[in-house]
Amino acid sequence: MNCKDTDRMIPLFLTNQLSNKDMDKFLCHVNTCDECMEELTIQYLVMIGSSVLEEGKSFDLRKDLNLLLTEAKKKVNRWRFLYGFSYVAEVITIVSMAIILTMVVI
Ligand SMILES: [Zn+2]
Repeated sequence: MNCKDTDRMIPLFLTNQLSNKDMDKFLCHVNTCDECMEELTIQYLVMIGSSVLEEGKSFDLRKDLNLLLTEAKKKVNRWRFLYGFSYVAEVITIVSMAIILTMVVI
């Protein structure tokens, strides 16, 4: 994923509209690219921060954004685990079927 793709995804990330797969790629890029992290911070401030300030609530930009990124990372990790688990379960099913069929033929 490049900076242009990441930039397009920022509003989708902030409104929780990215698929798990896209969010995984998005987080990998943002965590390694200072420019995209800065752009994310700016857009977060504009989109989320302004509405929070209008409501008169206090706002800690870095802390709140880090919390959002941490939660997103947890979600992606859960998805990766379940995706990996379903793959392993599928392989076990196929191997079991192959063993059963072999036993039936013999
Ligand atoms: Zn970038």
